[in-house]
Amino acid sequence: MASSSSSCSVGSPSSLTQRHRPPPGLSPSCVRYAVLGAGFAGLSVAWHLLKQSPKDSNIRVDIYDEAGIGGGASGVSGGLLHPYSPKAKLLWRAADCWSESLNLLSAAEAAVASAAQNSDGPTPIVRRRGILRPALSLKNLVLLKDNAQSCLASCRIETLDNDAAQNLVPGISPPLDASFYMPEAVNIHPQRYLQALFLACQNLVKELRASGSGVKELHLHKSSVHKLVDLEGEYQAVVVCLGAKADMLPELCGRLPLRTCRGVVANLQLPDDIGEEYPSLGPSILSDAWLAVQGPRSLYMGSTWEWKSRNSSPDVSAEEAGEALKELLPKALAVYPVLKDWKFAGARAGLRAMPPLTPHGSLPLLGCVDDIIGENRSSNYWLFGGLGSRGLLYHGWLGKLMAQAVLSCNEELIPHELTSWKKLKQ
Ligand SMILES: Cc1cc2nc3c(=O)[nH]c(=O)nc-3n(C[C@H](O)[C@H](O)[C@H](O)COP(=O)(O)OP(=O)(O)OC[C@H]3O[C@@H](n4cnc5c(N)ncnc54)[C@H](O)[C@@H]3O)c2cc1C
Repeated sequence: MASSSSSCSVGSPSSLTQRHRPPPGLSPSCVRYAVLGAGFAGLSVAWHLLKQSPKDSNIRVDIYDEAGIGGGASGVSGGLLHPYSPKAKLLWRAADCWSESLNLLSAAEAAVASAAQNSDGPTPIVRRRGILRPALSLKNLVLLKDNAQSCLASCRIETLDNDAAQNLVPGISPPLDASFYMPEAVNIHPQRYLQALFLACQNLVKELRASGSGVKELHLHKSSVHKLVDLEGEYQAVVVCLGAKADMLPELCGRLPLRTCRGVVANLQLPDDIGEEYPSLGPSILSDAWLAVQGPRSLYMGSTWEWKSRNSSPDVSAEEAGEALKELLPKALAVYPVLKDWKFAGARAGLRAMPPLTPHGSLPLLGCVDDIIGENRSSNYWLFGGLGSRGLLYHGWLGKLMAQAVLSCNEELIPHELTSWKKLKQ
């Protein structure tokens, strides 16, 4: 990393003091941060910038999103949240990731609850009914059993025989007499969650103001950022949280080890004339296709994997939806035959930003990108990207780490496993 006075230095206290000076043209009393993207990553960073900034500091956070809140992959995701791989292996730093994501969910729920005080009650954003993972083959069963032994106490994995699985989800038909049940796993309604998280950020600004601390401001701009240089000098730091479109910025184009992968999710609904609703306590289901239950008569089924696609549009043509159903339905019907009664009610899609595989699994890309962007700039530039297919698990803790690193301009606050991608040759 470059060590000129204009770059974001790592570590030394003297360099931190130097970097905390506002860029030229900025009021010395107010430090401004830009967060590009209002998906899981961007909103988590915005929340933590506000939450972690020194009490008496005056800070302003500007969020830019060309499509508004949840306009990218976050808004169309299945909303499934648990700290395991598909084979029930505990993921890297899973306990931290899991607990910080739950903290953000609670903050979002609290914001919605306070807004709904005078109405009939909040629309739920989190469904706490667990997730059920039937074993699909003998090899799969051995692996799942083995991995499940190291589960987190806060997100347990229980082994169920078919009778127990059918008690939870009548009509389920696991191919072997074993399913793995994570009772504490949740699934969220992604659009409602993101709106609620933004509301939580707005409430936090008000609370901090009311407590007599420094002035905090939060602004959401529904506009596209075409190049980073357009923001140059306006901000102390710019945090790029643009998901699969991060490398469409000319400054980052071809410099990030990300692969893109489009995924389609189908909404299935139970017709009015069918009485057998999905049980109110029934978990979501993970198999070769997942079923993210949203309510007794509505669920999402996903998802497809179209590698190298650059199509980030949430819109799905009739042809693309037909292809997705052809691929997903047989996989879902194999474990949950009752699905034959459900009807297709629409589809949406998103583009994942897939990071490279490391010895610790596929980890998001974090860090200061001043050295990639080049010299002669007065703002610092940071990247929080490559959340792959686990944005919900990673957004809480990594968003917090990102905000801490940005506020103190110290990249060393980020574990090296998340910044080591910068050493890869592009
Ligand atoms: C089909 C599908 C299902 C998934 N299911 C799950 C799941 O069940 N659980 C889970 O944890 N993860 C899931 N994921 C993965 C998850 O959605 C991603 O990891 C996560 O959304 C990434 O969040 P992000 O904030 O980095 O990116 P995004 O959500 O894509 O946010 C980027 C934002 O930047 C904005 N933007 C882009 N370019 C510009 C620009 N130039 N100027 C201004 N704004 C811009 C976009 O509008 C967008 O809102 C799924 C993904 C897909 C595609």
